[in-house]
Amino acid sequence: MKFETIAIHSGAGSDPGTGAIAPPIHLSTTFLRGADGEPVAGFGYVREESPTQERLETALAAIDGGAAALAFASGMAAGAALLQALPRGSHVLLPSDGYYTYRALAAEQFERWGLTWDVVAMHDLGAIRAAMRTETKLVWMESPTNPLMQISDIAAVADLSHRAGAQLVVDGTFATPALQQPLSHGADVVLHSTTKYLGGHSDVQGGSLAFQEKGTFFEASNRVRTLIGGVASPFNSWLVLRGIRSLPARMRMHCENAAAVAEWLVRNAAVDVVHYPGLKSHPGHDIARKQMSSFGGMLSFQVKGGREEALAVASRTKLFTPATSLGGVESLIEHRATSEGPSSTTPVNLLRLSVGLEHPDDLIADLEGALSFLH
Ligand SMILES: *Cc1c(COP(=O)(O)O)cnc(C)c1O
Repeated sequence: MKFETIAIHSGAGSDPGTGAIAPPIHLSTTFLRGADGEPVAGFGYVREESPTQERLETALAAIDGGAAALAFASGMAAGAALLQALPRGSHVLLPSDGYYTYRALAAEQFERWGLTWDVVAMHDLGAIRAAMRTETKLVWMESPTNPLMQISDIAAVADLSHRAGAQLVVDGTFATPALQQPLSHGADVVLHSTTKYLGGHSDVQGGSLAFQEKGTFFEASNRVRTLIGGVASPFNSWLVLRGIRSLPARMRMHCENAAAVAEWLVRNAAVDVVHYPGLKSHPGHDIARKQMSSFGGMLSFQVKGGREEALAVASRTKLFTPATSLGGVESLIEHRATSEGPSSTTPVNLLRLSVGLEHPDDLIADLEGALSFLH
């Protein structure tokens, strides 16, 4: 089946008790046990597994083409469970550009978890090779990256990781499974912050891990989740499941709108550089074409000037709302260096856009108005 069909029908099926077409939300925290003390329907306690979450996990595995998937309370909870599943003494390679909080997690928690790490430029295969150690167990990459929109070659990094005896996890939040299928390019695990495009309406937090194999890495991550409790709630599972149904349709329009905005920004005199993998001028464009079916709804650009000019632009837009996060139907603009805080390495003149589903003409007119004072 094609992706659009999988997105609609995975984890669906009418409710056997009532015939309801929309999936029921089972809020129960505990489930009936039989005379032998065992759960009668396979569910025991909500921290372990629950029916709405199970439907979501069926869908998550299907849309990423994985053997199994786990639903979490957030993208960070998903990533942390994977990292805590590594044996003590493991070495991890993290991307130099990528979701900032994972690098904060490394700096503040890895030592306590018995992990060591290095930060490398993940689009540079030579740099990855040079950073590999015998105890490297996990390579962590994002493509496209947050916020510089760098592209890494998933198949090449997977190959390099496997030769060194490490597994590859790809944070595919920006691309979503609608545009990019990391497991089919050799990744072992794909992570999403479902808070973003999978939820799609800026009203639910969640995370997911989909695994190439239902093996020891899956089991260990599942065990961490059960013990620590970072599982998705029934209601949040339901919202993410609902979001998945319209993901392919939304992504088509996000891509169209972002491409229009990117092409317009490139020609604007107040803009220094535009980071969007759909532009032919983007250094990762050819690799992006190879591994993505389209280029997504996220982009960033650097204004001529510095922090003040960038902040001024973000405060002058009317449709692009100044806020962090991404992937909702409404367009957002963010001064990323401020959100990341004092240790951020993001250029101070950079603005990140989550291009929503408004009409592209209105979005472009909004940016035109906000940038005009810089000409
Ligand atoms: C938001 C985000 C995360 C973290 O997800 P939360 O749901 O906020 O915990 C991880 N990776 C990327 C690329 C993100 O954008």
